[in-house]
This record gives sequence, structure tokens and C-alpha cells, in this order.
Amino acid sequence: SYRKGGYHAVRIGDPFSAGRYIAQRKLGWGQFSTVWLAYDTLSSSYVALKIQKSAQQFAQAALHEIEFLSAASDGDLQNTKCVVRLIDHFKHAGPNGQHLCMVLEFLGDSLLRLIRYNHYKGLKLDKVKEICRCILTGLDYLHHELGMIHSDLKPENILLVSTIDPGKDPVRSGLTPLLEKPEGNANGGGGGSSTMNLIEKRLKRRAKRAVAKISERRVSMVGEEASSKSERSLDGIDMRCKVVDFGNACWADKQFAEEIQTRQYRAPEVILKSGYSFSVDMWSFGCTAFELVTGDMLFAPKEGNGYGEDEDHLALMMELLGKMPRKIAIGGARSKDYFDRHGDLKRIRRLKYWPLDRLLVDKYKLPEGEAKEFAEFLSPVLEFAPEKRPTAQQCLEHPWMNVVSTQKNADSVESQVRNLKIKG
Ligand code: ATP
Ligand code: MG
Ligand code: MG
Repeated sequence: SYRKGGYHAVRIGDPFSAGRYIAQRKLGWGQFSTVWLAYDTLSSSYVALKIQKSAQQFAQAALHEIEFLSAASDGDLQNTKCVVRLIDHFKHAGPNGQHLCMVLEFLGDSLLRLIRYNHYKGLKLDKVKEICRCILTGLDYLHHELGMIHSDLKPENILLVSTIDPGKDPVRSGLTPLLEKPEGNANGGGGGSSTMNLIEKRLKRRAKRAVAKISERRVSMVGEEASSKSERSLDGIDMRCKVVDFGNACWADKQFAEEIQTRQYRAPEVILKSGYSFSVDMWSFGCTAFELVTGDMLFAPKEGNGYGEDEDHLALMMELLGKMPRKIAIGGARSKDYFDRHGDLKRIRRLKYWPLDRLLVDKYKLPEGEAKEFAEFLSPVLEFAPEKRPTAQQCLEHPWMNVVSTQKNADSVESQVRNLKIKG
């Protein structure tokens, strides 16, 4: 993909936007882009630099993403709405073409990695509630204030925020940003295949050390080290996070894509093509909350003998949530592919019902009371009828969100944070 129209090959120390940003190390990548940690020499802080592939369709997609990121940032001057901030954007000319670049505030690990670090055991309920509060705050803002549907909500697209922000204060955090471009890298590193010289190697080592320091400081960003320890390492840490990845966002009154969302987080009305609205994000939120509690994906459909992934997905939903009301089952443009006229699946005839509250107790060993409370919170979010699902605001007001659930966690979040501050 590092050819004409594809990714831009970046090397540590490369300058961007007339030298304002200096590449430090790669943070992640997607189908359309690579994301780099960069040092912003203007604000003396670290940022995330998302560099899009250069071909026309990728540039188009980046412009789309910038539109939604800008709207989300512009409407949140106080920076309290739990969505990632767009700091800047520009074009960068490289050997593979013109690349649109987005400069985003530098965030931490994704919830997917947090779940992974925790060995897929699920997080404590008080942590889950803190995370849910952030996600719901973000969704309420996008839906209610902006009229925007995110359409790709999932653990991978929710990133933790550092409570001790190294981006804000690189001097005090003891980091040494790389400011100079390595020698022998003057031709811009086209193709990314040239041999690394000594200076570059040294710079890479230096960058690695700097990065190691960053992760030490990024308490709430967890990090691999914490993973080997028990979940207790999360105790007392104020879990804050932000919604990222606006590449698939749309305005509720101006939709263009029929197939939205990542498979496992996709709402039934999207599969059936019955039309959709804000409540598709609530469905994905429900799937995400379950995953945080249990460490398992709520629905992981697979193609089987004589039936497709979609039909398996619908079967899994009904096994957990009960039979889909006939009117909804047969109401979509794709309904006839999966359901007969009675509202029964065509190819998967026998369903093994395992309701949510039982599943939480039997399989995930939640105490009866906790399982019941969580199921009461989650079930309405996973209503088959989209209009019956609560809004993000209604979820925020739900008792489950506002009661600390277990005796062990009777300490309020505030007092935990206070303790953390005193210790720090
Ligand atoms: P693509 O659109 O190119 O297929 P994507 O839409 O999934 O990819 P993002 O989710 O925005 O792209 O970013 C990809 C990865 O880069 C993220 O999963 C994360 O690891 C990292 N990343 C993105 N934004 C940030 C940020 N602001 N701070 C730190 N890391 C980030
Ligand atoms: Mg993503
Ligand atoms: Mg994207």
C-alpha cells in the first residue's frame, strides 16, 4: 500500500505542515490511514497525526471525516463532551501523492486493548459505569446537540484519556521530543525501503525511550505492564474516555450508506434494511457495555451450514432477547431473505433461548442482584423496536448508572480520585 495513491511512508523525525509537527512513532493504522504520535512545536505538546492515503476516494473520505470532527470540536468549546478534538488539518505532499492529514488530541489505549489487558475477564462494575457515563455523554452530545449518528461505535473506537496529560506538559513529564530530522533522510523517505542509517537507529532508540516514559506517565492509559498484573491495577483510577473515528458518521437527516456499523455491533434494523436513526448507536452502546462487563462480545455471528452471517446474527439476537415481533421481522427491505411470513427464520428453525439475566449469572457468574440490575439497564437498550430504545440522556438518568453497586466498591469515585491526587 506504500505506492502511488496509498499510504505516506513516514520516518521518525519527519516534519509536517512546514515543520510545525515532528513525527515521533506510529500509534496505529486503518485501511485508509496511518496514525502517528507527533510533537507540535507550536503548542509544545504531543498530538496524534492521522495521515490518509492519497488516492481521490481516500481524500474524499478524509474530507468527510474532517467535516464531522470539526462539527464535534466546534460545538464543544469547554472540551467536556467526551469526543476527540480536531486540532488542525492540512495537506502533505509526498512521493505517493497529496495526503490529507488530521491533527487530533493525543489519547490513550482503546477499550478493546483495555479488555485485552484484562484477559477478557470483564471490568469491575464501577469502572464500567464510569466508562459508560463518558460514552453516553458523547452520544447525547452527538445525537441531541448535533444531530449526528456515529455509526461505528465499538470498543476499538473509544480511547482512554490520560488524567496526567503528558501532551500538556512535556517538560515536566521529562520527555525529550525529537525535533531534528535524521541525516540521510532528506529525500522524504519515499517507498520506505531505504536502509536505516546509524543516526536514524539512534533516534529510533531515543523515541522508544521517550515513548516508554510516556506510557509510564499515562496512568489511565493502562499499558502492557499493567496487563500482567491483576485488575487491581485499575483501582483508584478515574476512567475517562472519548469517542473517536468519525469516518463513518452521518447526519440523521442526510444519510447515504445503507450498510453501516461493524458487524458485531450492528443493529437489527440495519441488517433488515428497515431504516435507521440515532438509536443504532444505542444498540452498539449496549453491545459495548456488555463486552466491558463480561469481556466477551455480545453477538459474534458466523456463517453456517445452509445459512449466512446475517441470519445467524438475527438468531443470536432472538436467543438472547426473545422472539422478534412479527411486524418488525417482516418490515424491512431485506426481511424476505431471512424470515417467512409468520416471522420465523427461514433456515435456522430451532432457537436455544438464554435470557440476558440468566446468561450473566450462569455463564459470567455475576451475583443474582447485580445481574438483575444490569439486565434491567441493558434490556431496553437492546429493544428490537428502535423507537423503544432509551436515548443516551435517558440512560444517563437510569438508576444503574447512578448507584455504586458492590460493597467492595462503596468508596465513591470522587474519593478514589482524591486519594490518587494526594498520593500523586
Ligand atoms: P481507517 O479509517 O484508516 O480504516 P480508522 O477509521 O479505524 O482507520 P481511527 O480509528 O481513527 O482510524 O484510528 C486508527 C487507530 O489509531 C486507533 O484505533 C488508535 O489505535 C490510533 N489513534 C487514532 N486516533 C488517536 C488519537 N487521537 N490518539 C491516540 N491514538 C489514536
Ligand atoms: Mg477505528
Ligand atoms: Mg475510519
